[in-house]
Amino acid sequence: MLVMKFGGSSISNAQKVLRAVEIVKTELPNKPIVVVSAHGNTTELLVSCARVAKAGDISPDEVVDYHFKLADDLQVERKLIEPLLFRLEAVLHGISLLKELTLRTMDTVMSFGERLASRIFAATLAGNGVSAVPINAYDIGFLTDSNHGTARPLLPDIEKDISRKLSRYAQTPVITGFIGKDAKGEITTIGRSGSDYTASIIAAAVGAQEIQIWTDVDGIMTADPSVEPAARGLRELSFDEASELAYYGAEVLHPSTLIPAIRKNIPVRVANTLKAQLPGTVIHPGSKLTGGMAKSIVYKEDVCLLNLFSPRLLSVTSLMSSALEILAKYHVHTHVAVTSEASISLITDRAYTDEELGPALAELEGIAKLSLEREKAIICVVGEEMKGNATILGEIFAALGSEGINARTVSQSAAELNIAFLVDNSQIAPAVRALHKLVLRKWKKIP
Ligand code: ASP
Ligand code: MG
Repeated sequence: MLVMKFGGSSISNAQKVLRAVEIVKTELPNKPIVVVSAHGNTTELLVSCARVAKAGDISPDEVVDYHFKLADDLQVERKLIEPLLFRLEAVLHGISLLKELTLRTMDTVMSFGERLASRIFAATLAGNGVSAVPINAYDIGFLTDSNHGTARPLLPDIEKDISRKLSRYAQTPVITGFIGKDAKGEITTIGRSGSDYTASIIAAAVGAQEIQIWTDVDGIMTADPSVEPAARGLRELSFDEASELAYYGAEVLHPSTLIPAIRKNIPVRVANTLKAQLPGTVIHPGSKLTGGMAKSIVYKEDVCLLNLFSPRLLSVTSLMSSALEILAKYHVHTHVAVTSEASISLITDRAYTDEELGPALAELEGIAKLSLEREKAIICVVGEEMKGNATILGEIFAALGSEGINARTVSQSAAELNIAFLVDNSQIAPAVRALHKLVLRKWKKIP
């Protein structure tokens, strides 16, 4: 068995859907289970429909027209999706009357994207000779907690149920990514871009031989090609390397995707729908070294650096635990922590607005002196090649220094397969390019 996930951009128009259908057909002997995201930018459109409805206006036209056009172009009967579109309109109507938009309602609105996509995709498969059935993930036991917007699937408990319920289908299942239900039967979503994670959960549940993430880039690259045109595709990565890359901002994979895959030892292939003949990147335990300094450089733009200076009466360890507690309370997530005898530096996982940070900062001010710096970027160099390499740090900082870049709050993982540091947003491009030269140096062939 095989799980094949198609991202929104891979199925954004009829021609692309047909390509995806052809790719599924080549895998029929391996019993594919398909997982789909919403077509194109549908989720974005739905979010704005919900917001507009809250302001009193009901305007689902763009979503309706887009899906009718997809259906028409694919010779899928409109009546297959009409009930969903009516229902969407009714929900928007409700929001506009109540002028209230909770996270719970937002989840219901967003869920229409994947529900429409699974119906259209399954019908297109059927129209092309593959007997297929659309399935809402929650109808086969995809249960989550009730944390709307970022719900956590109840793993591993739900796996048995998912596998048992899926085994009842003889046809090719086309399952909704991204959405689930909580114990009360309310629709939930598992975080933006979560369909990758749905795919790996389902793969783990059924014991699939591979998870294929079909997207619109050539797999995982040595660097962001929009910053470094010389970036190259990687053939292989280890689970650990890929986890670090996903964590530090490589956008091809949702960061949680690898957790079920690692637990069940299932390789993950990231491949380009438009270039299906290319192998893409395979993430698996036995990946080889490249012969370069490392494999890839990723960055996360627009994070904040929060420095806390410990008052003399408080030890840094107790300051750290109180600070993390306060930040967690206000849903401010931090990535990297560097500590000294008298201070702690924390890096947020994204840019937060003043309103978002305000309450947390006010409370932190009660326990320490603070400074906040914005428009920073975390750059992270990843590769098993770095393990036990005594000269690597020197080379990295020499390369940055030659560009006049000052790297701050440097940290390295316990496994020594990454080095992360902070620069200004404006220094991303020169830093990535300088480091990429090191990554490609001695690179013999595509690994
Ligand atoms: N459609 C959802 C989103 O846009 C989930 C996904 O694409 O994986 O975030
Ligand atoms: Mg996506």
